[in-house]
Amino acid sequence: MRHYDFVVIGSGPAGRRAAVQAAKIQKSVLVVEKGRRVGGVSVHTGTIPSKTLRETVLNLSGWRERGFYGRGYRVKKDITSDDLLKRLHMTLNHEVEILEHQFARNKVDTIMGMARFVDANTIEVTDDEDVVTHFTADRFLLAVGTKPYRPTHIPFDGENVVDSDEILNLKNLPRSIAIVGAGVIGTEYATIFSALDVKVTLIDPTDTLLPFVDRELIDEFVHDLRDRGMTLRLCCKAENVEVDSSGCTIHLDGGRVVRSDMVLFAAGRMGATASLNLDAVGLETDSRGRLMVDKSSFQTNVSHIYAAGDVIGFPSLASTSMEQGRIAACHAFGVAAHEPPEFFPYGIYAVPEMSMIGVTEKEARERGIAYEVGVARFRETSRGHIMGIECGFMKMLFALDTRRLLGVHIVGEGATELIHIGQAVLNLGGTLDYFVENTFNYPTLAEGYKIAALDAWNRMPKDLPETVQGETAEDDDEVAEGSVTDLNSKLRQAL
Ligand SMILES: Cc1cc2nc3c(=O)[nH]c(=O)nc-3n(C[C@H](O)[C@H](O)[C@H](O)COP(=O)(O)OP(=O)(O)OC[C@H]3O[C@@H](n4cnc5c(N)ncnc54)[C@H](O)[C@@H]3O)c2cc1C
Repeated sequence: MRHYDFVVIGSGPAGRRAAVQAAKIQKSVLVVEKGRRVGGVSVHTGTIPSKTLRETVLNLSGWRERGFYGRGYRVKKDITSDDLLKRLHMTLNHEVEILEHQFARNKVDTIMGMARFVDANTIEVTDDEDVVTHFTADRFLLAVGTKPYRPTHIPFDGENVVDSDEILNLKNLPRSIAIVGAGVIGTEYATIFSALDVKVTLIDPTDTLLPFVDRELIDEFVHDLRDRGMTLRLCCKAENVEVDSSGCTIHLDGGRVVRSDMVLFAAGRMGATASLNLDAVGLETDSRGRLMVDKSSFQTNVSHIYAAGDVIGFPSLASTSMEQGRIAACHAFGVAAHEPPEFFPYGIYAVPEMSMIGVTEKEARERGIAYEVGVARFRETSRGHIMGIECGFMKMLFALDTRRLLGVHIVGEGATELIHIGQAVLNLGGTLDYFVENTFNYPTLAEGYKIAALDAWNRMPKDLPETVQGETAEDDDEVAEGSVTDLNSKLRQAL
């Protein structure tokens, strides 16, 4: 029986980062993966496939050009599921190859098969041909992730009624699709299909989309969805789905009915812990199969067993999972690891995309922080004009007393990239001055930071020379371009 310093179960972002980190500090590492290839949900059914699909749809549909050429504009007229899947497979293959190479380079061993505990230091791995191998280890990381929640009242058949894994096996593009669950995954897929001109109905029992997102962003987002013909059935629970030769019928509570060619059920995910035989090591999960850990070390109640990634719940992002894996591996082998800063970015790759970091207005009010807001609309930037952008904006919150940046919220083109400027300033404790005093490339959407900061500055209480007071966001281009030095010196005097 082979012994390792560290056995990692699951090869998604958390497992991968933990394994490489442990290998870098000269530990012997084994990664066990039950899928056919390494990469986890992130590479095979989650992050990368959905983002590749999104990119393909935006490119082939000509979505980004429609601001100029009209809603009827298409790059490719008849987009088929083959068009979508071809690029998907190329991207996934490339991702897996990079990952396999990374493991090989770092001398991380891998074995394909289902892992389960035999006792506190032993696992057995069963491969596709039922061959069982045993391994022992000093430390373990459970990075098993999640799988789609599949309630028994939904008649999943892999073709007409699918979950978010099965949607990637799409044989034909439906003319209409009903999506049950308006969380991040449901909303992303709803907007991707809508960009393909598929008729979409989004169903959710709550009364709003994505409650953790700033309300102004959601208002803009929902307006955009309705404007392009998406139907939202909020406050509606899907009670039952019937499938016949003419398509699917979804019965909602309250008696309403939705008809569609296809149903995507994307209402929640469960921790993939059921097959681990956790009883053998004395670990318990919550009702959704998730594990509890100490949030600074990622240690479970059993001190040599760590857990990281989606299996420990919120925020369930590939980005945060990687960091958790790295910190867990460092802690397991006594290496100091800095805890990540309090604020991390959240990206929602819908069409249009959204991203945010820091506090929302609601949170600022709840925490009793006095703040001011600045807004920049992308259509007010030169880059926005060049790109034909009609919607989208950036909103920044600043503390009134210290002028420190409290939060950035962006909806629209490039949101998930742009957010990192705000992230750097926020986590380094920067203030409004940073944005006002620095020069941004022109023309860029990032210029929105300066415009939004000036917008906030104009609203903030101060004793300023008449000429600068009362500027509005619309005036800010002129202020920023025409008299930056002048403005900065006035600002320095005033602040
Ligand atoms: C549709 C979708 C879109 C997403 N989009 C984004 C996004 O845009 N950005 C983002 O940051 N995040 C996104 N996520 C979330 C992201 O995919 C997850 O946060 C991330 O994959 C979690 O990583 P993980 O390491 O916890 O495990 P996972 O990636 O879930 O991988 C776990 C692995 O463990 C394996 N495993 C499970 N049990 C066993 C066992 N007993 N033995 C051996 N192997 C086992 C599984 O086969 C799997 O390969 C998305 C998720 C979905 C579903």
